[in-house]
Amino acid sequence: MVNIINIGIDIGGRHIGMALIDEKGKVHNKVIVDYPNDKSAKYILSQINDYVKKYEDRAKAIGIGVPGIIKNNKIAYTCNLSIEDPYFVKKIHTNLPVYLANDALCAMLAEYKVIDDCKYENYALVTIGTGIGAGFIFNGKIYEGRNGYSGEVGHMVIKKDGIQCNCGRKGCFEKYASVSRLLEISKSKSLGEFFGKVEKDASLAKVFDSYLDDLADGIANVIMINDFDMLVIGGSLAWFGKNFYYVLRAKIASRLFNRNEKDVRIKFAKLGNDAGLIGAGLIADC
Ligand SMILES: [Zn+2]
Repeated sequence: MVNIINIGIDIGGRHIGMALIDEKGKVHNKVIVDYPNDKSAKYILSQINDYVKKYEDRAKAIGIGVPGIIKNNKIAYTCNLSIEDPYFVKKIHTNLPVYLANDALCAMLAEYKVIDDCKYENYALVTIGTGIGAGFIFNGKIYEGRNGYSGEVGHMVIKKDGIQCNCGRKGCFEKYASVSRLLEISKSKSLGEFFGKVEKDASLAKVFDSYLDDLADGIANVIMINDFDMLVIGGSLAWFGKNFYYVLRAKIASRLFNRNEKDVRIKFAKLGNDAGLIGAGLIADC
């Protein structure tokens, strides 16, 4: 019998993932629910309550990853969902403790604990997906910042007066280096399609090279400020990382003074789609 510890819930932009997460970060009884044109707090809470009712007697706590800003265990801001309900946690019908956390922070925690066994003191995961986010560990501890804004690296300006971002600023990192941007500039429907054609198409390779320059600018900035022991690149781009690891590492190294390529400690995330879910389950134990 596996000793199940927590319920992990990942409220994503496209679906809600729910599972029991054991102490080793293994996923059990996973359920993925799509949104039927309804991303309201009411719908999301009804799905969560159904799952919790079924499995709460096997869990010690509930952790929920949210794509937004969390402050004092309340959802302060979300970009794409309307769930800024201060009573969100209270509307989950359970006696178990419920913890909210930013989704990138959850993904980071999953890689940090399950893949890297907490062996680094200062650690970051930058998710490159529809948008860009990050989660940080400093001195072995999760760092969320005073207002929960820590890790919002997607909204660091890398081009002055650049593309308008929905955060209000212009030239944000995620406007140039998110997967959405790569698909847009390469006129591709998916990353699979893009990586299938980029090697045979010189003009597309040029587009990709310029995209990697923007990606390297942002990642180098994050490394420059914090000098992490390890920086993990996650999100859907990470699944294709082996196609461009050395090129990206060289580009990052060239932006950091006095640093040779081998001293740039970056790697790609390994847990894939389940990272957010696993991290949400583990967060309740931090
Ligand atoms: Zn922005």
